[in-house]
Amino acid sequence: MYVGDAQDRRGHNSSGKIDLRSDTVTRPPPGMLAAMAGAELGDDVFGDDPTVHKLEERMADLFGKEAALFLPSGTQSNLCAMLAQCGRGEEILVGRPYHVYSAEAHGTSVLGGIALEPLAVADDQAIEPEKVSAAVKPDDPHLPVTRLLSLENTVSGKAVPLDRQEAAAAAARRHGLAVHLDAARGFNAAAALGIDVKTLARCADSVSACLSKGLGTPAGTVLCGPRDLIGRARRYRKMLGGGMRQVGLLAAAGLYALDHHAPRIAEDHARAAQLRAGLSKLPGLRVDMAPNQTNMALVTIDGPDPEMVHAALSEAGLICARQGAFMRLVVHRDMDDADIDRVLAAFEGALSTA
Ligand SMILES: *Cc1c(COP(=O)(O)O)cnc(C)c1O
Repeated sequence: MYVGDAQDRRGHNSSGKIDLRSDTVTRPPPGMLAAMAGAELGDDVFGDDPTVHKLEERMADLFGKEAALFLPSGTQSNLCAMLAQCGRGEEILVGRPYHVYSAEAHGTSVLGGIALEPLAVADDQAIEPEKVSAAVKPDDPHLPVTRLLSLENTVSGKAVPLDRQEAAAAAARRHGLAVHLDAARGFNAAAALGIDVKTLARCADSVSACLSKGLGTPAGTVLCGPRDLIGRARRYRKMLGGGMRQVGLLAAAGLYALDHHAPRIAEDHARAAQLRAGLSKLPGLRVDMAPNQTNMALVTIDGPDPEMVHAALSEAGLICARQGAFMRLVVHRDMDDADIDRVLAAFEGALSTA
């Protein structure tokens, strides 16, 4: 197994390739593995794991909520949050490109009998407050009962400005809706917006934050919210098969990441900005240069054959995801400045030969 070095950020996988598919691909560094190996453990389904308790308390405090729950994944965390706040025949308003709508197999509908109503988002990925108000259903037996607004930050690597997020939440409140925030990359959002995660989450009842993306743990997401909501979410976690036993092993990785990785998350943003700037100079490529971006470069191959470009990039040692001509390149903590140069050189070569 390849294990990244705490000092050496070059976390190439064992084949020496640079993996740009996601920030979930990072390997735990030795310091994290040592923290995991030394963790005090218990059976968390019995509520006995002191390291899980420590992580949950720390995250609740960081996000300014009463309580927290450690879950295996962001998808399960969002699902438990929504099941805990909505019932059968009710409805959730959510941005169409948001993960809850576009990438969670409509688990709320399949497993909870809860409808998802997708709303268009603005260029900055926020939902306009007017869109929220217009989508709330009147009290009419023909219609579902609108119960919750599900927000997201970051969206496609873009930090939604706080005032825009809060305006959508305020519109939801005026109609008596609850608010959930999918902050899978909330630490990225907060760093980019120059605020703490407590401020980011203050407009939401429940907030879900992943430890396995920019923070670099092997797995785990934490859901924060009021004590009664978290209690209901705990029952759904067990129901969905997410009760884990000596999971302080993973909670210890989370605590280590909060101490050592969270404070450095903006380094990924600086490298991603370097990458976008470099790529934007290359012919045959359109680069999204929107402000408020974090750790991604969103590029569209414009001219050369995308399949040939992709093959040439693979040949040059890059692992990239591609949908047609579009590529999302994700910078993470297992990449350093030299890797950015390597990626730029690979693109330059691939675009000129394809
Ligand atoms: C990754 C992600 C999730 C889900 O996380 P998993 O741990 O992969 O289930 C949820 N929301 C957003 C915005 C994400 O980026």
